[in-house]
Amino acid sequence: MSLDFAFGVEERAFREQVRQFLDTKLPEHLRIATRLNSATFVSKEIAQEWHSILHRQGWLGYLWPVEYGGTGWSPIQRFIFERECALADAPALIPMGLRYVGPVIFTFGSPQQKEYFLPRILNGEHYWAQGFSEPGAGSDLAALQCRADNKGTHYLVNGSKIWTTHAHFANWIFCILRTSKSAKSQDGVSFILINMQSPGIRIEPIITLGGDHDVNQVFFDDVKVPIENLVGEEGRGWQYAKFLLEYERGGVSVSGKIRRDIEHLVNFANRLTNDRIFNHNLTRLKIRVLALEATELRVMSQMKPGRPPGKESSILKLVSAQLEQDVSKLAVDAIGNKALRLFEHDTTQTKATPIDFTMPLMSRYLNLRASSIYGGSNEIQRNIIASHVLGLR
Ligand SMILES: Cc1cc2nc3c(=O)[nH]c(=O)nc-3n(C[C@H](O)[C@H](O)[C@H](O)COP(=O)(O)OP(=O)(O)OC[C@H]3O[C@@H](n4cnc5c(N)ncnc54)[C@H](O)[C@@H]3O)c2cc1C
Repeated sequence: MSLDFAFGVEERAFREQVRQFLDTKLPEHLRIATRLNSATFVSKEIAQEWHSILHRQGWLGYLWPVEYGGTGWSPIQRFIFERECALADAPALIPMGLRYVGPVIFTFGSPQQKEYFLPRILNGEHYWAQGFSEPGAGSDLAALQCRADNKGTHYLVNGSKIWTTHAHFANWIFCILRTSKSAKSQDGVSFILINMQSPGIRIEPIITLGGDHDVNQVFFDDVKVPIENLVGEEGRGWQYAKFLLEYERGGVSVSGKIRRDIEHLVNFANRLTNDRIFNHNLTRLKIRVLALEATELRVMSQMKPGRPPGKESSILKLVSAQLEQDVSKLAVDAIGNKALRLFEHDTTQTKATPIDFTMPLMSRYLNLRASSIYGGSNEIQRNIIASHVLGLR
């Protein structure tokens, strides 16, 4: 699949710089761990190692303004960087700190919060989880019940959050919590940062369909949180959450990762099948990746430094979720009845032969069923596109 964008001289030079960096600084064991990973994200150890390498290079906060440690890259440079990283099998960066809460803190946080939290996100000391969803509040997030009662010097937090990705690794969690009852459920919600070491927090694992431990339920039982951990104004958490969700749904390019999945699929499928229907379906997927790349470039090129991508992020989320799922389905089709045997694999391996890379395919296929649910389901993205992008009300 060859397509070279009409990048200018400077962009091609930047791409060369990124390629050289990846050739020399991305260790082989991280590339292999990425290819053997079946879960939504790689393990904390693998992710943190890559995080530290990029931090040392000064290339981590590329979505952030320069004053907080950003790179000053243009949207096209960001696209090139993410694409080259994905094509080289670099591990995905864990987004909860860098892409989710970081922008909320540098946009709405107090000077003290910026000074304390932002450097610790970049140096990897703080590992974040996202506490939005609850057992009774997913698509209808405004129905959330987990509450934070203002006691003057601190909040007292009671309730539970669910589907909390990597909460078992995190030392901080950002939550939206009910701080007052009001007529409109979106009001009276506040955005609060909680240290996971606080007494009264309990984490229960949830094992995914693919057999991985990615998500959890987190319980808060009279957890005391200092009042200064409130971000922005009390009662305006819904606005900050909506701002964050735009970064979650469309802040980065995922087409490079999907393109790479297709390349891997082509490599191993050549050994297994020469079926005409398979080749036809493969070509259709390649065309859809090209369309996604063009859409990503269009949306990203409109992004201003330090600003969220806008409601168009829902288009990227919807299209990439469908495409990722369809690529993984074709991969499982290609390995046929081997899929079940490959279901039980050892993701702790750091060595693999090319054929071993088929091993995580079945688990990845099953785990990817969640990509049309997390970050807001496909139906919710369609609702947002209809009302906020197309103006159909
Ligand atoms: C693997 C995974 C990781 C996750 N990680 C996190 C995390 O780290 N932090 C976090 O806070 N949350 C996380 N989530 C939660 C995720 O955001 C929710 O699961 C999602 O928003 C859907 O909510 P729900 O599961 O309650 O489903 P529901 O809201 O009950 O939806 C059920 C079905 O009804 C449909 N539906 C609901 N409302 C409408 C409507 N208005 N119009 C049309 N259809 C509708 C939905 O599309 C869906 O098909 C994660 C979820 C998964 C699966």
